[in-house]
Amino acid sequence: PSEEYELSRRRIFSNTKELWYYVNSELQSLVKEGDGVKVEHISKIKDIVGEHYRSLLKDITSLADVDGHAVWRQQESENLSNLVQKRLKHLQNPSDCAKARKLVCDLNKGCGYGCQLHHVVYCFIVAYATERTLILRSKGWRYSKGGWQDVFLPLSDTCLLPNGETTNRWPGHRNTQVITLPIIDSINPRPPFLPLALPEDLAPRLNVLHGDPVVWWIGQFLKYMLRPQPATSNKLDEYAKKVKFQKPIVGVHIRRTDKVGTEAAFHKLDEYMIHVEQYYKYKELTDKVDKKRVYLATDEPKLFSEAKRKYPEYEIVGDEDISKTASISKRYSDQSLSGIITDIHFLSLSDYLVCTFSSQVCRVAYEIMNSLHPDASTLYTSLDDIYYYGGQKRRLHIAVLPHEANGPHEMNLLVGDEIAVAGNHWDGYSKGTNLRTKESGLYPTFKVSPKIETAPFASYPDVTL
Ligand code: GDP
Repeated sequence: PSEEYELSRRRIFSNTKELWYYVNSELQSLVKEGDGVKVEHISKIKDIVGEHYRSLLKDITSLADVDGHAVWRQQESENLSNLVQKRLKHLQNPSDCAKARKLVCDLNKGCGYGCQLHHVVYCFIVAYATERTLILRSKGWRYSKGGWQDVFLPLSDTCLLPNGETTNRWPGHRNTQVITLPIIDSINPRPPFLPLALPEDLAPRLNVLHGDPVVWWIGQFLKYMLRPQPATSNKLDEYAKKVKFQKPIVGVHIRRTDKVGTEAAFHKLDEYMIHVEQYYKYKELTDKVDKKRVYLATDEPKLFSEAKRKYPEYEIVGDEDISKTASISKRYSDQSLSGIITDIHFLSLSDYLVCTFSSQVCRVAYEIMNSLHPDASTLYTSLDDIYYYGGQKRRLHIAVLPHEANGPHEMNLLVGDEIAVAGNHWDGYSKGTNLRTKESGLYPTFKVSPKIETAPFASYPDVTL
């Protein structure tokens, strides 16, 4: 398919969703204020519009696969992934480690596992862009004292030591042999190739392949990093058998404890389950669903019994003990590491994800999911944020239809305006700042399209398939 075809198809898909968000949220507020008879009528309308919506989504989704496009997408995704993986392997295995240019990164950022993985991905992206072998210092890791290699394969077979003739802090010079990198929040100067930027040489192909190409890109770094040690693999296989992990299954991640009220709002189990229900109704348009399953991952152990009590028609898969270890007091131990690796792994293997993107646990699962499918950019519902990368440069929208503000909360758009996006309110509107007028406010999401940003990265001309 051409880029024009793929972008139009995705636009119709996402605007169908936006139309549903709008109608659903308007009808919902009518239900809240309506009297008895009206409420019944409105609920009926909501159900029927919901049926229209799912049928439309199904038809648009089938357009992605016809005329050999599914086969093409699978092949293109494999080719691109093989190319990137080969480049990473080449970068990480220099023939002479004593002379190699290196970038040193400390795993021990003082935060959770998801946050630390994102920290390493950021280091790896800088290493890739500047063509330096990434050296990960991980001894004394808060999750496993022996370090990264306790659970995952080392990032290199030939080069793990940070030594060199000259060492300097970022940015150093091209000929400084070893450069140490601070965390993304304090990198200075900020290079142009941090997320959400894509490498110029791959961007045109990624833009045809994927609905949110930067997620695919980040997924490729995780794919390389998270190659499990045999013992880790075995544990995951055993766990899959123990909990009877089977498809269809929807991954639900519910982040509570220390996150709620500080970095994210509280959401009830029912708010997640509405989207799980939606997913299965959608699925039942084409497939017979023998059993509705949910893979539940959470740091709030009580949710297992709540889910089983309130949703008896579901099979709730997961492990309450993992959740107990995850709850705040025992968080950083070998045991909690094995729990979070397990939860992220099975969330990423699920058919669909329902979670809050304010949590790095769910964003990592989504990124990994996108390394397992040619394009899994539509296989999630986030109850709060849109996808972002901590420390990223802004996400941009570009107006494709003009908009005249409908009240003080909205802003004007002219075609071609660039908007720095703050978030989607999941009611048909997004919030952002118009870079031309400097105005901030709401605008209808269907009047914009995503803008892809690119940057010059090292292009590895000698590494080809
Ligand atoms: P965030 O705080 O949710 O953005 O994600 P982080 O990964 O940075 O920190 C949260 C930490 O809490 C995780 O790394 C886990 O140690 C723990 N945690 C949170 N949610 C879960 C879960 O669903 N399962 C498990 N096993 N641990 C969790």
